[in-house]
Amino acid sequence: MLNKILQNIFSARKYILAILISSLMFIIIVALILPFSFSSLLELIILLLLFDFIIVYLIGNSRKSEIESIVNIINKIRTDNLQSDNEIKLGKYLSELENEIREMYLKSRDDISHLKKLEQIRTEFLANVSHELRTPIFAIQGFIETLLDGAIDDKNVNKTFLEKANQHTINLSNLLNDLIDISMIESGQMKMSFRFFNIYEFLEAIVNELRIHATSKNLSLILEPFDKSLQLYGDKQRLKQVMTNLIINAVKYTEFGTVSIGVIPESGFAQIYVRDTGLGITQEDQERIFERFYRVDKDRSRSMGGTGLGLAIVKHIVEAHGSKITVESEPGKGSVFSFRLKK
Ligand code: ADP
Repeated sequence: MLNKILQNIFSARKYILAILISSLMFIIIVALILPFSFSSLLELIILLLLFDFIIVYLIGNSRKSEIESIVNIINKIRTDNLQSDNEIKLGKYLSELENEIREMYLKSRDDISHLKKLEQIRTEFLANVSHELRTPIFAIQGFIETLLDGAIDDKNVNKTFLEKANQHTINLSNLLNDLIDISMIESGQMKMSFRFFNIYEFLEAIVNELRIHATSKNLSLILEPFDKSLQLYGDKQRLKQVMTNLIINAVKYTEFGTVSIGVIPESGFAQIYVRDTGLGITQEDQERIFERFYRVDKDRSRSMGGTGLGLAIVKHIVEAHGSKITVESEPGKGSVFSFRLKK
């Protein structure tokens, strides 16, 4: 209670101080200048009250101008007319309020620019999705129309056109699957299930499953030897998606040589890598390949059934493991994609 009273008095210190000082000055001046003209104490008190009334009026006036400057600043913020936070000035006695308004202004400015950025990303994403969907749909439509217009009876082309239309339906289906994954991941709906598992058996099964892709291009796909009992921590199902994406990419963008997969144990972690002897990626492109829909060569990627979303999905999944996907590459020599998992 006493504390509260003291606090209230303290917060009104500016006004109390002003009244006390001015009353004191008034009494001193009256006592010095007119010591004999006021005989009664009552008259002096009345005069003092009058004087205090004037002081209170002046304080009220200055308070009003403080409130006006607060309203003015809030108004400027609301109507977006504040150039910078330096314009938020309320004077020494309102420094706490000034700081609060400044913090609030800076936070809302950051929030707004973040929302604007998200909105821009969303618009770009929608434009990209529409474009990516249009490409296979138009191609399928084109092949079907040509077949209906008579090419169906032309034995030289009918099978080829059907195969091409079929390839585009596969591309479309890949794209839809990747889009579903990306939206699940980005909306936070992707459920992760972490446990320890044997990494050697895990990688061996994936390599065996994907070997056919490599042999069809005369590439060798190898799992380099490492401790067969090593246990790592992660979501096996999602990590299979990561490894499949990286290995399929390595095979897709390699014409000669080898794709090797390996694990390097480190303290507390193990590094998993996919190395190829393929096209390689320039430094400039390395910085962008994890963006959604970014491809170094769009036509080449599409013709091989690529959606441009694979590495974006890989990045999300690896980051959900508290890790980071990195790439080292030299054009013409090959690339190494790697990330770490907990032991
Ligand atoms: P895509 O479906 O086009 O393969 P990704 O997101 O998987 O999409 O990869 C993005 C781009 O990164 C690819 O289009 C390709 O240009 C490049 N890229 C990915 N992996 C490799 C690799 N191992 N070697 C060379 N380029 C690669």
